[in-house]
Amino acid sequence: MSASESTVRELLAKLVGFDTTSAKSNLDLIAFVADHLKSHGIASTRVRSPDGDKADLFATIGGKGDGGIGLSGHSDCVPVEGQRWTSDPFNLTERAGKLYGRGTCDMKGFLACVLASVPLFKSRALKEPVHIIISYDEEVGCTGVRPLIARLGHDLPRPRAIIVGEPTGMAVIDAHKRIDAYRTRVTGREAHSSMPELGVNAIAAAAALIGEIERLGANIGTKQNDPRFEPPFSTVSVGTIQGGTAANIVPKTCEFQWQVRSLPSAAPAEVPRDLSAFAKTALLPRMRQVTKEAAIDTEAQGSVPAFVAAPASPAVALALELTGAQATQAVSYTTEAGLFEQAGCPSVICGPGNIAQAHAADEYVSIAQLDACMAFLEGLANRLSR
Ligand SMILES: [Zn+2]
Repeated sequence: MSASESTVRELLAKLVGFDTTSAKSNLDLIAFVADHLKSHGIASTRVRSPDGDKADLFATIGGKGDGGIGLSGHSDCVPVEGQRWTSDPFNLTERAGKLYGRGTCDMKGFLACVLASVPLFKSRALKEPVHIIISYDEEVGCTGVRPLIARLGHDLPRPRAIIVGEPTGMAVIDAHKRIDAYRTRVTGREAHSSMPELGVNAIAAAAALIGEIERLGANIGTKQNDPRFEPPFSTVSVGTIQGGTAANIVPKTCEFQWQVRSLPSAAPAEVPRDLSAFAKTALLPRMRQVTKEAAIDTEAQGSVPAFVAAPASPAVALALELTGAQATQAVSYTTEAGLFEQAGCPSVICGPGNIAQAHAADEYVSIAQLDACMAFLEGLANRLSR
């Protein structure tokens, strides 16, 4: 094991040890990172969340001002509740060349490589700076990075290219889909279940709406075909549902959450528009015959923009050069890259680990992937000091 390999492992063990599930504070992790940077003489800026419980971190190695290369990762991870783990998810454990723990793959492995490379970047006469960008609340709609992005080019430097180190197996990703999240609430009327005709069954109406969402989704699949994506079309999915009080009461309310994952080229508002037309024509007239209070309301719950790298993107060119990859790929999951790109920072996604292990029980990153990421970062240091 090389010195840099053991440093990566120590740093990863530390990062995994902080339970930064999105619902919890990440301030201890951010303080650890800030101390690590400070021990190498690097100052960092924290961008606090509105409630003060979380923070982004921005730090620069090398010169001041705009330009330079951003290395970006999120500090939060998904919950372990309900998953069966072989070992403690917050205690980094090695088995057969793989390092297990929550966030190892998505995406503390990348952060550990970046932090382990700080002495290397510091030791070089960098012609342009390296910026370290760490966010919170990526896993709950990429909301945490937005206040930091708003400051780029204002009181924080705007990198000329950003590498988002999400797990791609070090492949170079230049496009991803978009997410729009919704909550639909059905209001009906309560009644004794022996006389259902006096009530309006909110669960039954919700079931009809969900059936329509599935039908609309299947229809999209027959109309779109972009072979860069897997699956090659936009998709819909219902994620949660709640409703009803008891088996013998016609339920008054039911609500469910659902989302549309759209191809970058697709019109994202089509499904909610068609669903609303279905509600108005097929469901509401009947429901309102029983009670005027019957309602179906769909509320947008936030979106994550699609990512499409600009033609001749300097970020994509850099990642291709550093990995030696011949071609780029597209993915169906979302990242912060679309937000950076929208804000005028050309971005690319390239990082260690396989997305198949992200969010799963027994999440791991292989040591070989961390080595490949360290080689990538060394190549970046060479490139920037050439
Ligand atoms: Zn991630």
